[in-house]
Amino acid sequence: MGTPAAVVWDPALLAYDLGGDHPFNPVRLELTIALATQLGVLDGVELLRPEPASDEEIERIHEVSYVSAVREAPMVGWDVGHGLGTPDNPVFSQMHEASSLVVGASLQAAAKIASGAANRAVNIAGGLHHAMRDHAAGFCVYNDCAVAISWLLDNGAERVAYIDVDVHHGDGVQAAFYNDPRVLTISLHQNPMTLWPGTGRVTELGGPGAEGTSVNIPLPPHTRDPAWLRAFHAVVPSLLGAFRPDVLVTQCGVDTHEEDPLADLWLSVDGHREIYRVLRGLAEQYVGGKWLAMGGGGYQLLRVVPRSWTHLIATVLDRDVDPETPLPIEWVNDVLRRAPGAELPRTMGEGMDTGFVPWDGTAQQPVDSVIRDARGAVFPLHGLDPDDPRD
Ligand SMILES: [Zn+2]
Repeated sequence: MGTPAAVVWDPALLAYDLGGDHPFNPVRLELTIALATQLGVLDGVELLRPEPASDEEIERIHEVSYVSAVREAPMVGWDVGHGLGTPDNPVFSQMHEASSLVVGASLQAAAKIASGAANRAVNIAGGLHHAMRDHAAGFCVYNDCAVAISWLLDNGAERVAYIDVDVHHGDGVQAAFYNDPRVLTISLHQNPMTLWPGTGRVTELGGPGAEGTSVNIPLPPHTRDPAWLRAFHAVVPSLLGAFRPDVLVTQCGVDTHEEDPLADLWLSVDGHREIYRVLRGLAEQYVGGKWLAMGGGGYQLLRVVPRSWTHLIATVLDRDVDPETPLPIEWVNDVLRRAPGAELPRTMGEGMDTGFVPWDGTAQQPVDSVIRDARGAVFPLHGLDPDDPRD
């Protein structure tokens, strides 16, 4: 028996387009849906068409004055404040409408899970985790992750666990719930000393009354799949067991890839695929399968994002794609028409071994100092022993 799963998608989501040479190019979404379709991953799947989120829903997380500024920015010009009109967050036409549709897509996915219509749901256009209460940041206008979590808390969930595997710190979501003991935010990211936004240290643990519900795992540059997975397994499952969430929300950015132009972790598409399978397993183990998955960063637009997020969609649907599956020729030709001369991979994987040695409590690998620091900071706040690998 398959698990009912929902995929939210509408080409209208491509209107979230920061324009010009901006790295956050919607072609990455378009090519992902095309690849998933041509591989048969979406056969028989009814794609859910989102509605734009209302102001009331967006204002769960954002200031009224900020929402007004976003709405008016395309008419006002570039000097609108709130982080808008910058190289990272340029003003674009229909910015409010496009951004509220992204939020609406994540809300629709959340609603499917809350109603029991689906156990899992995915919105690859979502994951805009840097947006703050009163300003845009890091290509993100409205924080669909935070709005969806807030909505879930008002619609049956008592505790929500949020796991952010983007290469950048999930700062906007952490900030939104820093003082809320009902939301456990866990972010694995490149060390903030070496990457924007410069937050996400292990000492950021949550505010008064919520100590231990903000968890950060800052990984050294050039971390590869096995070390990433070793750190994840040494920290995350125990915390889920202790926190006992009702639903798992994940931001699945793929800018951790070795070829990503904006950052320096060295994961592979095979590693991404393995991460999604692990997240699915954790959802089954700890939250009765309830898994809301969003996209996020990822700027190797042709070679990485479409493959990795096709694996994400496939994993959500229990239609896992073998990494040796050849890329459909139709898809390759479509990409080559858009980007003549692009060097494309031949298969859905990269032949990387994602096997890893579980952390055993000793310090054997460079990543073990991160494991020690993260566990040491947060485990005691959950009644767990940081030194005992069984915890
Ligand atoms: Zn990112």
